[in-house]
Amino acid sequence: MLTIKKVATVVSNYQEDNNNTNISENAIQSEGRGCFRNCLGKCCLPVSKLPLYAFKKDENDSENNAAVVSFDDGVSPISFLNNLLLGQWEDRMRRGLFRYDVTSCETKIIPGRYGFIAQLNEGRHLKKRPTEFRIDQVLQPFDENKFNFTKVGQEEVLFRFESSDDDKSRFFSSYPLDIWSTSPSVVAINVSPIEYGHVLLIPRVVDRLPQRIDRESFLLALYFAKEAADPFLRVGYNSLGAFATINHLHFQAYYLSVSFPIEKVPNHKIMTRKGLHGTKLVVSELLDYPVRGLVFEGESTRDLSDAVASSCIYLQLKNIPFNVLIADCGKKIFLLPQCYAEKQALGEVSSELLETQVNPAVWEISGHMVLKKRKDYNDASEEYAWKLLSEVSLSGTRFEKVKAYVSEAANLQVKVDNSSKDEKEGVCDSQAPQVALHLHHDCLVIQ
Ligand SMILES: [Zn+2]
Repeated sequence: MLTIKKVATVVSNYQEDNNNTNISENAIQSEGRGCFRNCLGKCCLPVSKLPLYAFKKDENDSENNAAVVSFDDGVSPISFLNNLLLGQWEDRMRRGLFRYDVTSCETKIIPGRYGFIAQLNEGRHLKKRPTEFRIDQVLQPFDENKFNFTKVGQEEVLFRFESSDDDKSRFFSSYPLDIWSTSPSVVAINVSPIEYGHVLLIPRVVDRLPQRIDRESFLLALYFAKEAADPFLRVGYNSLGAFATINHLHFQAYYLSVSFPIEKVPNHKIMTRKGLHGTKLVVSELLDYPVRGLVFEGESTRDLSDAVASSCIYLQLKNIPFNVLIADCGKKIFLLPQCYAEKQALGEVSSELLETQVNPAVWEISGHMVLKKRKDYNDASEEYAWKLLSEVSLSGTRFEKVKAYVSEAANLQVKVDNSSKDEKEGVCDSQAPQVALHLHHDCLVIQ
């Protein structure tokens, strides 16, 4: 058994409180008044009236149908979901639910070709002792005795996010919940945010799904990115063994007002397939980046979701840890298998890298380095980022296997390699998002 010791991030204010483990279940019996903690368990949800954002689920879509909000002051219209998320998130900030003020964390672009982003976040890892994590099993059963999101207080929840019954996206500021027929999918704050608007998307929370990709949940995450309709909102996923710390299914999302380096590097088409109704799906390989990875792009949300989810499910069965980044409003998805935790457990990572205590999860791999110490922040260089991420990457041989698995899982045809340079995009990709105007100015990165 391989394990590593690391400091787990506290994502909910209820995470350190392990004394009430069984209250929820007992309280169900007692007249539905709940466990008096206003939690997300079956005890308290039946009397809750969480807001509901119901999104339109398209069967065969390419264009974006997200509801938008327009302003009179010349600011470009933003999606209703985006506006809701930011408004509710700021409300929780005013109510003091976060462990620190992320808008006061220093952020800089590391000089160099790639523009890695460094953040000094001294508040994120305080007051916690390292915990032992098993890292050699991507699939582990749900453990009732560990922290899970049913224990989170409802004040940390912004809204429910579920598909609508008809062909419209709708918002209900309060919506009754029949807990016996519906397991709500919720968006909650991460109380240790690494950027503005950092939230957790927890599919079917009362079903207590372990941290593993399934088709339905992945599609939900993709719709979340699509409905937000903001290229600066990225959705991320970490598998067990790839720095997920909570074995209860969740995605993360936050706004970063510049491009992630991974969004800018060139890539090379290696696999394609025609989906339903003739829509095209393309899988490319990242070039010129320290972590070997795949990029999925498709015309249909459902088809794209299906290809990535199938690939993830296959990697899970093959016990290969991975991270996923959903970018470009759900149109571009990065799949990044990794082996850093494995190397760490085997004692193969240099002490110099371990000393910075950076856990390379989806955000770090994409190029956003969250550093805990002032010295590491001041000294952060492209060379450091490159060195760290090189340790994350699978070897060429192992990555070839992953490509074969993905091709099989998602039924992709391997493209004959003509090595045409014109398929490669330049390091400065003009399609990558530029600067967001509607974001709080404190969270804009100073370039
Ligand atoms: Zn409760």
